Amino acid sequence: METLPIFMKIRHRRCVVIGGGDVASRKVSLLLKAGAAVTVIAPELYATLIEWVDAGEIRHINAMFQPEQLDGACIVIAATDDEDVNRQVSAAAMSRNIPVNVVDAPELCTFIVPSIVDRSPILVAVSSGGAAPVLARMLRTRIETMIPATYGKLAALAADFRDQVKQRFSNSQQRRIFWEDVFQGPIGEQVLSGQESAARQALQQVLKGSGDTHHGEVYLVGGGPGDPDLLTFRALRLMQQADVCVYDKLVSKEVMELVRRDADLVYVGKTRDQHTLPQEKINDLLVRLAQEGKRVLRLKGGDPFIFGRGGEEIETLMEHGVPFQVVPGITAANGVSSYAGIPLTHRDYAQSCLFTTGHLKDGSVDLDWPALVRPGQTVVIYMGLVGLPEICRQLILHGAPANRPIAIVQQGTTPRQRVVAATLETLAEKVEAAGLKAPCLIIVGEVVRLREKLAWFEPSPVAESVE
Ligand code: SAH
Repeated sequence: METLPIFMKIRHRRCVVIGGGDVASRKVSLLLKAGAAVTVIAPELYATLIEWVDAGEIRHINAMFQPEQLDGACIVIAATDDEDVNRQVSAAAMSRNIPVNVVDAPELCTFIVPSIVDRSPILVAVSSGGAAPVLARMLRTRIETMIPATYGKLAALAADFRDQVKQRFSNSQQRRIFWEDVFQGPIGEQVLSGQESAARQALQQVLKGSGDTHHGEVYLVGGGPGDPDLLTFRALRLMQQADVCVYDKLVSKEVMELVRRDADLVYVGKTRDQHTLPQEKINDLLVRLAQEGKRVLRLKGGDPFIFGRGGEEIETLMEHGVPFQVVPGITAANGVSSYAGIPLTHRDYAQSCLFTTGHLKDGSVDLDWPALVRPGQTVVIYMGLVGLPEICRQLILHGAPANRPIAIVQQGTTPRQRVVAATLETLAEKVEAAGLKAPCLIIVGEVVRLREKLAWFEPSPVAESVE
């Protein structure tokens, strides 16, 4: 080990930065975050540094560097583009035994500023000892994606309950096991998903002896339209810690690949005509699995609250007091339109956008047609493949011009994406000939024309034939 990692308390202590440019301002920003009393020495200041001086957040010495300026400092950072000055600062600091960092000059440093992941009070610092800062930053980015943004709140919870937990468990091993259970169980999840007061109540109850840390929970997760890269960080994290995954037909196989390997998979998908499992049974299943103490991933295509019946599922969970969280996903309208090169709004063509279902009821599509034919808007129709000919017919019947552009997108965002674009008059026939497979999304409106210019995602025909 070339260096010793330590975390230094600099709150209210004098820290000196030499230099007035962008690099200096980044260092000052870091020092301010840690509460330092910052003095900047530079004959000229730029951008944010000026704002900080004006706001009284930092002190500015408007002068060339002099060694005495370092007296009383707890650390010094040189961030000038003048090598001589940097060298002088380094020598002056070393002779005073003040830790010094010279940006991009490891040989002049007595300490290194690491790349950090800030989840205060938790901090992760990564350093390459000055050998490869770029590598350290890349590693930092990877760690950044692995640690939930609210991770620090777990530490805050632990700090607040530390005394109570100590009273409850005198033995340190018991305390360790207790905290592991809390952090990895539903209480920890509640904190991470922003349900802090519920988490505190639950913890209070456990400490009183009237609750436990092991009960099950449900994650209602939006799996997005198909491309696994469109998952949220939170979705991925929960997918990888679930004990059981209850999923639909709509969830793409690429997304399913990312569910924890050891999780039991329960398919409750619905095909159009045949309901594999009625909704009430799904609701009950989720409750039962959670009551068995499992972490249940309810994985849905797109977003759970957009034509996803997510509301019904959590209603049942609520009735049974099962803890849960809802993780939004990219809904088909968003994902599919982006990948098809069709912006849903556009200053010239569409000032609003409407999502509707095109699901048939008793063989007919029962929609608010006058609202759907208005000009200047985009209409996105979910579940409209079967009803497509009827939808086009009704739109024309209710006054939409027969040449209004319309597109249908099969399995958007996946390697099997196919787009058929035409007009209200011609689409049904084209689609019949193309033999599209569900799921398909319909987009109606002038914005469809933009596709000619904006289409960028063209999966290879080889990949298409996989299905
Ligand atoms: N909750 C989902 C929608 C469920 S309804 C969401 O937010 O996206 C099912 C309908 O979604 C399908 O009939 C289809 O219209 C649409 N859909 C979902 N994923 C799709 C995809 N990858 N490509 C095209 N349509 C999709």
